Amino acid sequence: MPQAVLNPFQLLAITARMVAMKASAFSDVRTWVFDLDNTLYPPSARLFDQIEVRMTDWVMAALGVARDEADRLRTHYWATYGTTLAGLMTEHGVDPGPYLTHVHEIDLSPLSLDPDLAERIGALPGRKIVYTNGSAPYAERVLVARGLGRVIDAVYGVEHAGFRPKPERAAFETVFAADGIDAGMAAMFEDDPRNLAAPHEMGMRTVHVAPAPAPADHIHYHTDDLTGFLAQLGQPAEVAE
Ligand SMILES: [Mg+2]
Repeated sequence: MPQAVLNPFQLLAITARMVAMKASAFSDVRTWVFDLDNTLYPPSARLFDQIEVRMTDWVMAALGVARDEADRLRTHYWATYGTTLAGLMTEHGVDPGPYLTHVHEIDLSPLSLDPDLAERIGALPGRKIVYTNGSAPYAERVLVARGLGRVIDAVYGVEHAGFRPKPERAAFETVFAADGIDAGMAAMFEDDPRNLAAPHEMGMRTVHVAPAPAPADHIHYHTDDLTGFLAQLGQPAEVAE
């Protein structure tokens, strides 16, 4: 039996229909929530490499352990509590303020301005916010380095959720209540798949932004190109013609 092969026009029509469906899935979104690290800048900037070194230094000094043990604890806390900080606070009563300042004192020169992404975020209808497990002052610096400061309406860090981190649903609820966000009319963009589970439960559209997909029921879309993804949302009529 001959195999059905789509011609280029049929492929184009299918692609256009998929893009139009995606655009309509986001048509009632009025709040756009973006994670910061490895979501609003590419993982190739490797900022987290710098942050992790400073976290390990902090754990070594605070707990009096060697580097290997500090690295092991950091990984264990991240896996168990969502962040290293949450583990340090829960198990060792660490003061979060000085810790957050220390770990975020990093070199931002790997970041470059991204006018295309700024234009796409700026064109989205409604409110645009950043919600990060880092601190808000750090997020503000990163946004300036990316040229995104003027298109983001508000920035929330882990301090705004009483230092409870994503992926805890209570953390999302605290931040969303503070901003007055209706989760049913909001979308979440994140590189860590764990941090999309609560948003999905709360009725948000969820988009995994990462080089590789990590399919799961709570992840509605994946993209390795945030700018390109947002461009498709903004032009449903154009792509459907
Ligand atoms: Mg991230």
